Amino acid sequence: MTEHAHMNCEKLLGSLSEYIDGELDPELCQEIEKHLAGCDNCRVVLNTTRRTIDLVHAPTERPDLPDDVRERLFKRLNLDDYLNPK
Ligand SMILES: [Zn+2]
Repeated sequence: MTEHAHMNCEKLLGSLSEYIDGELDPELCQEIEKHLAGCDNCRVVLNTTRRTIDLVHAPTERPDLPDDVRERLFKRLNLDDYLNPK
């Protein structure tokens, strides 16, 4: 079991937004994709985050998305729990 040898979940999630924005080095992206291939937890977080970012960044598709809905979406992600495990 050496799937997580190169990168742990905490490191991946710390770079997640940059990864989604395409701001990471290709090498680091590869490390992330390698980790994602073997880690359901991080895949779920990535998919949820991507979907939420798409939603928030697509005002033409969602012209009526009120601020409180947006806020609730971010809260549902609970990213703090992943980044700062108790
Ligand atoms: Zn992971």
